[in-house]
Amino acid sequence: MPAQILDGTKLAAEIRAEVAAEVKTLSASGLRPGLAVILVGNNPASEVYVRGKVKSSGELGIYSEQHSPPESSSTEDLVALVDSLNRRDEIDGILVQLPLPPQVDSKRVLLAVDPAKDVDGFHPMNVGYLSTQRPGLVPCTPAGVMEVLRRSNIPVAGQEAVVVGRSDIVGKPVAMLLLNQNATVTVCHSKTRDLPAVCRRADILVAAIGRAGMVTRDFVKPGATVIDVGINKVTERADFEQFFGGQQAADPARYSKRLESFLSKGSTLVGDVHPEVAEIAGAITPVPGGIGPLTIAMLMANTVKAAKLRRSQK
Ligand code: NAP
Repeated sequence: MPAQILDGTKLAAEIRAEVAAEVKTLSASGLRPGLAVILVGNNPASEVYVRGKVKSSGELGIYSEQHSPPESSSTEDLVALVDSLNRRDEIDGILVQLPLPPQVDSKRVLLAVDPAKDVDGFHPMNVGYLSTQRPGLVPCTPAGVMEVLRRSNIPVAGQEAVVVGRSDIVGKPVAMLLLNQNATVTVCHSKTRDLPAVCRRADILVAAIGRAGMVTRDFVKPGATVIDVGINKVTERADFEQFFGGQQAADPARYSKRLESFLSKGSTLVGDVHPEVAEIAGAITPVPGGIGPLTIAMLMANTVKAAKLRRSQK
């Protein structure tokens, strides 16, 4: 039986509607959440992400402002900007869009963000709160993974969870969140021996690797829930066929639609999980339309959470 598709676009819309309602209530009591986004220089991909974040804030009623210091900015310039935002009461969230230019010490800039306004959840203080189960701000993509599981009624407690990837922004916080919800968690990485065998133990398998279609059928226990965090661009026709060729006979309409879009744009997005896995998984997040849409929704939710946590402490 084909897997249940966990529709991230639909779940993100649910979260956005809830956030918008909460923003309305908070704003009525004079506490409109505010987000400041810092975009340094002219990285085209970063410009697209930041535009999405600012647009989404506006749609949900969150006050937002964008700061665009020049590419030549120094670490001191950016720390000074972050400091000025830390001091402004109407700013609840500060997001420094990465990557920063090479002359900038990114760690120093991120460390300068007031942990109470760290809506990306990257500050060591928030990492510590997460690992000691205290209220704090959790990184957006990992928080999105947990929302997909929760809103899809997929049990976590007592389940075998395997996370492939151990980055500070995805793998480690996902593993910690699953552990905090009483899963039995295994974290894998590039030095893991017999990765397919370890992954086959999973009731919940999370792939956050950055390698197109690496998780194939032989990594997955039939019926498992598979969460695909990866976003990889495929531009070669041969790669397209390797990932989607199998759909041609099984679902010709879907194959044709994807091929048409690939030919017109010259690329398509593939997760870290091979599309063939949908034939044996119990439930799976698609790419695109899975975890991706949740990330911005959780940024909005984090901004509201930051406003409530910080302003209630006054
Ligand atoms: P990353 O920092 O490059 O980390 C990748 C992890 O995968 C590392 O821990 C690495 O192991 C592991 N890995 C690499 N090759 C492996 C292999 N052959 N076998 C086992 N493990 C392997 O990447 P990231 O920032 O976590 O991102 C992961 C993916 O998620 C990327 O595709 C990224 O685009 C995507 N992403 C999506 C969103 C979203 O909104 N949906 C947000 C963030 C990231 P080592 O530690 O041993 O090197």
